[in-house]
Amino acid sequence: MAIAETQQAAGGADALLVEYVARGGSRCPSCGYSLDGLRSDRCPECGEALRLVLRAVDPRMGCWVAGLIGLAGGMGFFIVFLGFFLFAVVVGDADLSDMLEVWPMWLGLAVQGGALGVWVAQGRRVRRRPRGVRLTLAIGAWVLSGVVTASMIWALIEHVF
Ligand SMILES: [Zn+2]
Repeated sequence: MAIAETQQAAGGADALLVEYVARGGSRCPSCGYSLDGLRSDRCPECGEALRLVLRAVDPRMGCWVAGLIGLAGGMGFFIVFLGFFLFAVVVGDADLSDMLEVWPMWLGLAVQGGALGVWVAQGRRVRRRPRGVRLTLAIGAWVLSGVVTASMIWALIEHVF
């Protein structure tokens, strides 16, 4: 195996890591100690294990995080509303049965919670899509939050109060 051979070449350490560090100027990401002349895959100063990693420059999190904020914000609205309502019940202005009267808030919480769950579960899939699709999905998440929040407030005013 190629990996086994290269590791053997550096006497147990990752040959590519040793080769990379041999260019000079590398520092331990953990403690900042100079890694010049490193011959192992551990920092000689702090003992932290080191590894050479290939990583995408843009982890493509932006649109997904934006969508997450939109959905969580919508969910937060319903949680805050129901929280205040529960406070009113505890303080005594409202009855516990009134908690059911404000069903649009529960419905909104369920929809937003479900959408947020799907968004989190499908995060990897969303991030793999091209930028245009990711942007559309993020905007869609905000639009959904806006529409759900607005229609549940409307339902509350129309049917409950
Ligand atoms: Zn170190």
